[in-house]
Amino acid sequence: MKQRINLLIAFSVVALIVLTTVQCYLVKTAYDYKVAEFHTQIKNEIGKISNNYSDIDSAIVSRKEALYKSLSENYIKGKKNRSDIKNGVLNAEYQNAVTQRIQRKFERDLPNFKIDFAIVLNKFILYKNRQKADTIFSQKPFIQNKLYGNLLSLNHAFLVRSYVGTTNGTFENQDYKLLTEDSMYVSVIDWEMIILRRMTFILALSFFSILTLISLFVIAIKALIKQKKVSDVKTDFINNITHELKTPLATLGISTKILEQKNIRENDENFNSIVNTISRQNNRLQNLIDQVMANSLAENEIELKKEKIETEEFLLSIVNDFKITFPKINLKTDFQTQKTILVLDRFHVTTAFLNVLENAVKYGSNTITVKTRIVDNQFSVSFEDDGIGIAKNKQSLLFEKFYRVEQGNLHNTKGLGLGLYYVDQIVKAHQGSVSVMSDLGKGTQFTILLKV
Ligand code: ADP
Repeated sequence: MKQRINLLIAFSVVALIVLTTVQCYLVKTAYDYKVAEFHTQIKNEIGKISNNYSDIDSAIVSRKEALYKSLSENYIKGKKNRSDIKNGVLNAEYQNAVTQRIQRKFERDLPNFKIDFAIVLNKFILYKNRQKADTIFSQKPFIQNKLYGNLLSLNHAFLVRSYVGTTNGTFENQDYKLLTEDSMYVSVIDWEMIILRRMTFILALSFFSILTLISLFVIAIKALIKQKKVSDVKTDFINNITHELKTPLATLGISTKILEQKNIRENDENFNSIVNTISRQNNRLQNLIDQVMANSLAENEIELKKEKIETEEFLLSIVNDFKITFPKINLKTDFQTQKTILVLDRFHVTTAFLNVLENAVKYGSNTITVKTRIVDNQFSVSFEDDGIGIAKNKQSLLFEKFYRVEQGNLHNTKGLGLGLYYVDQIVKAHQGSVSVMSDLGKGTQFTILLKV
């Protein structure tokens, strides 16, 4: 059974990991999709700004065209080399003005986003006399080739669009054609937050479903373990009660056999001794049955006959009776209360106190001290013994029905695991509480608190 539970836990953990991984993968896919969707949205919105920026400032655009034209013509004339053209294009004096205009346009047209951008020049190609192209400049997009914009790196930016411009002209009887290509890169500030905000619903739903799954898993495993514990406890109980019943039944069997012998029946002394044995074993069987019956009742089903009792006197009578039954035990009292009147059921409380005292004897004590105190306005009775003690990790289960501490050879000691359960039920029925303090090998102290 234990192996099956472990196997089940292992399978469930694997299933949980697989499901969580799938969920994470789905969330990642949704995130990638949202990023792509976001880029498309930004591209579409920026695409509305006309291609050659002429609507931003037509004067600047014509200045730019004039510059390109003069640079091309100087190149044809042989006055300028390629790097002069590149420097001329990249360091034009109108660049800051264009950057500011575009920024302002973004702020006006896309007020919900804070956008950084860069327009970089990729190509500057001159075709002379319809001949082969003279590539003055052609590169992959680099931030160093920035024409306009405030971006410092293209790393986290995405391409919005590329613009190809052509200019035709004639210079010194040469027809030429200029082809330029520039690309616009943008980076939206806090774009991750924007996307996460758009994914709130999906994230919350996934988180909630994983949490539900884990909770269900934990609840199911807990229930399984509890069930296993109950079934173990029941098996233990059956073993214990069988063991408890065997001795009196065997004695009864032997006694009956002996009584069948005529010479025994004729000897009064022997006859009486056998009858006494039968009667004792009969009582023992009766007690066992009573104990099981009494403990089949739940706390709220116990019928109490409560009366006002002077508790110290009541305790003393239990102690004195106990001393007569166990003359070898050193039973001491340390009462620091006087004439405390409590409303108790005399019969059940006596049985509960006796259970605790008998356990002390059963589990190895020679000296027992019964103490009374007032603690936090409650009446406290404690039973301190010098027996074998109880390991800390077993203490939480002590008051459970049928629970017995398994201690190797110790369970030569007879019992059904009902004594402390009964104590707990009776104390609870009096709205009190019972607790234990113990260390293995160092004795045990049970404390019962009752309302004054
Ligand atoms: P049992 O019939 O086994 O005595 P109880 O419910 O009375 O059942 O006690 C439960 C378990 O608690 C016992 O099996 C025993 O191991 C442990 N126990 C109870 N009282 C003491 C004690 N005074 N000292 C050590 N162990 C104790």
